[in-house]
Amino acid sequence: MKKILSTMALLLLAVVALAACSNKQGSSNDKLRVVTTNSIIADITKNIAGDKITLHSIVPVGKDPHEYEPLPEDVKKTSQADLIFYNGINLETGGNAWFTKLVKNAHKIENKDYFAVSDGVKVIYLEGQSEKGKEDPHAWLNLENGIIYARNIAKQLIAKDPKNKTYYEKNLETYTNKLSKLDQEAKETFKNIPDEKKLIVTSEGCFKYFSKAYGVPSAYIWEINTEEEGTPDQIKTLVEKLRQTKVPALFVESSVDDRPMKTVAKDTNIPIYAKIFTDSIAKKGQKGDSYYNMMKYNLDKIAQGLNQ
Ligand SMILES: [Zn+2]
Repeated sequence: MKKILSTMALLLLAVVALAACSNKQGSSNDKLRVVTTNSIIADITKNIAGDKITLHSIVPVGKDPHEYEPLPEDVKKTSQADLIFYNGINLETGGNAWFTKLVKNAHKIENKDYFAVSDGVKVIYLEGQSEKGKEDPHAWLNLENGIIYARNIAKQLIAKDPKNKTYYEKNLETYTNKLSKLDQEAKETFKNIPDEKKLIVTSEGCFKYFSKAYGVPSAYIWEINTEEEGTPDQIKTLVEKLRQTKVPALFVESSVDDRPMKTVAKDTNIPIYAKIFTDSIAKKGQKGDSYYNMMKYNLDKIAQGLNQ
């Protein structure tokens, strides 16, 4: 009996050891560890990488990616990451430069460990007096740039994880075709809106890339989230500008304080038509909960609002 028991114990040990072993192989331990700075870059990455990576995204959905204080978890995940994607062009590296500090503390090296997904986009510069000469980071609001982001992400995934090259390439093709189709739709959408109504008004001046790509000018209360947001002077300037137009709708972004735009609406009698997504996707399950969905949602809402 004793012998049987000890044999059983040994067997049990072997089973446990085997399970632990296979569990290790099948677990996330051998997957590429990827960190992204915000929900938009995370979503593009997921579309290409699927379940081949483990992903940690830093700035929570609905929060401002310009200014952020990384949590201990973000610092840990960044230190352990095989690959880090950030927007660049004055987003996480502007203002308090939270990303610059984060990668420095994590001893990560540019273009070896971390990569700007905006690499290769045609940069538009800010116009405000204190901001002049600095890059406008919101390149993703032009879908053609979203395609550049996707290609940059795929390129680095393949470089770090060549065994899944075919998988990444196939997903990249499917995804960029989908974005490209929406881009064509967007270019058609705004053609028939009368010029005096054609103006996208948001709190932050984040639509420059969008305006250029789709032929709809934009106006704002403040130019970029790293400057003062919604001062009486900024509001006054926009209100005066709007009084000279027939713009039927205002918009407010999901990731900013909506009170300054409410003041503009009150002072101009132009209603806020919709909350749109610019610096973050929506929460999972809600409209706008991916990069594609947020772009589609914005296009629909802006066209409906201006076509009234
Ligand atoms: Zn922004």
